This record gives sequence, C-alpha cells and structure tokens, in this order.
Amino acid sequence: MEINGKTKLMGLIGNPVEHTMSPVIHNTIAAHMNENMAYLPFPVKDNLNTAVKGAYALGVQGMNVTVPYKSEVMECLTEADELAKSIGAVNTLVRVEGGYRGYNTDMTGLYRAMQSYGIKIEKEKIVILGAGGAARAVAFLCAYYGAEKVYILNRSVEKAQAVSEEVNKAMGRECLVPMALEDYELLPEEKMLCIQATSVGLSPKEHEVVIEDDSFYRRIHTGYDLIYRPSNTRFMQLVKEQGGNAYHGLKMLLYQGVEAFEFWNQVKVSEELADKVYEVMKGEMHIEE
Ligand code: NDP
Repeated sequence: MEINGKTKLMGLIGNPVEHTMSPVIHNTIAAHMNENMAYLPFPVKDNLNTAVKGAYALGVQGMNVTVPYKSEVMECLTEADELAKSIGAVNTLVRVEGGYRGYNTDMTGLYRAMQSYGIKIEKEKIVILGAGGAARAVAFLCAYYGAEKVYILNRSVEKAQAVSEEVNKAMGRECLVPMALEDYELLPEEKMLCIQATSVGLSPKEHEVVIEDDSFYRRIHTGYDLIYRPSNTRFMQLVKEQGGNAYHGLKMLLYQGVEAFEFWNQVKVSEELADKVYEVMKGEMHIEE
C-alpha cells in the first residue's frame, strides 16, 4: 500500500490494543477495494476525551473503540445511532460536522454473522448465557429484532434482572425473562437458539463451560458462542453432541469491521470480499473452520 498526501487515517482506540485483529480486517479490505486508507491501533492509557478531540483535529475519518472505553466514549460524541444509544455502548466512530457519530457495529455485526449462518432472531425463543457487557447488548439486539422471548441466565441473577428490566422498559414489552444460571431446568422443554455470552471457555481455560448438563443442550437447536479463541469451545462441543449446530464468534468480529468500513468509506463490501478477509483472519488465528 502506498501512503501519500491523500491517505485517509482510521484507527482503534483502546487499552490494550497490541493483539487486535482489526488492522488485518481493514487494511485487507482497503487493499482489495483500492481505498486510499490506513488503519492503525492507538493505545490510549487515559485522557480518552483528549484522544477523541485530537483525532478529530488531526482529520482522522473514523475510529473503532474497544475495551475499556465502549461506554465512556459516548460522552465524547456529537451524536449516536438509536441502537447504540439504547445499548449504551459504541465501538465505531464516524466523522461528522464538529465531531464523531457513534454506532454499535458489534451488535449489527453479530446480527449479520448470524444471518450468514441462516440463524433467525425474529419470533424466536432465545437463551442468553451471561449478563455482562456483551450479553446486555445481545439482549437489546434480540429484543430489537423481534425475538418472542429471551431467557437471560446469569450466575449473579441480579444482573440478569437489571438487564431484563432495562430492555423490557426500552422496548415496551415483556420480552426478557431473567433467571439464575442454576435454574436452567425451568426453561421450556423445546428447541431454542442459545447465545453464549459469558467469558467462561476463553483460552487458556477452554475446557470450561457454565452448564455441563446434557439435558440443557437437548433444548438447543443452534448455539452461537461469542468466544472465538478457541474456535471450538466446550459449549460448542456440547451443543453438537446433542445434535445442534454450533458456531464461534469470529464472524461477528469480521462483520463488526466490515460494517465500520462501510460507514467510513460509504461503500458496500461484497460477501465475496468478506469471505476473503475471513480466510485471512482464520489464517492469522490458525483456525480451519
Ligand atoms: P463481562 O466481564 O462484562 O461479563 C462476563 C460474564 O461472564 C458475566 O455474565 C459473568 O457472570 C460471566 N462469568 C464470568 N465468570 C463466570 C463463571 N466462573 N461462572 C459463571 N459465569 C461467569 O464480559 P463481556 O460481556 O465483555 O464479554 C463476554 C464474552 O464475549 C467474552 O468472552 C468476550 O471475549 C466475548 N466477546 C466477543 C466479541 C466478538 O467480536 N466475537 C465481542 C465482545 C465480546 P457474573 O455477572 O455472575 O460475574
């Protein structure tokens, strides 16, 4: 890639950012689409507001935001998209007059990843494991896209209750049902989609899972694990053992990047190119499927 006087700069703000896959995603798409842009990680240890204002002053066209700033960055924006506002977290900044507009492409990316696998949300009964930052956003996404019922199970039940209250209030319907993790036997006895949104099972503790019992997995027709390291989690194995389909979270990461790229450059990334980028990502991670 040739960097010249017209190269647009995009970047990632977070801490740490050293192991991010985002430069691979964006620089690969840019090269294939002949977009004159470069994407760099920026470790921001503190002074988030100064970093965002400084990026604007320097003409940075777009940014991603990662841990620990996805909520805090909302105070540094001129405007935010409706879904991002209800979730209360932003991972993509798009330059507008006077500052940046915030989006949550983690969630629209998850939606697109699920669509690419043929997984439906509308009118579905869904189980979410976890009630942390990612699970909360997934709960909003499911309610927003018309899930019939969402059972949200968490070790600390009060967090599941808080998320349910918030989502039900925002959506104006009783869509979410909070439950303690150990009460999974009280779930309806029918096949459902399950989204694994806890941090249990992350490498190097890849043999761990929040529920071991086969009777739980018999209720799951499809399991989507937000974790992608490892690429075959214990949760995925248990879903497959009971005859369900199971997917890891790498496509979610791919599509959150694709959607950010599309916002910044006002282009549409073809599915063919998204597939190519996915192959590059799998290569970087030494994943085969
Ligand atoms: P948080 O720290 O906010 O939440 C962690 C969740 O895991 C909580 O629900 C917590 O329960 C639960 N948990 C942790 N340890 C245990 C345990 N021993 N037993 C039972 N439950 C446990 O994390 P995030 O929500 O930010 O992230 C969750 C996962 O999603 C991570 O693995 C992350 O890698 C993944 N992720 C993937 C993305 C992608 O692009 N694919 C994007 C974003 C996240 P409790 O409340 O009781 O502590």
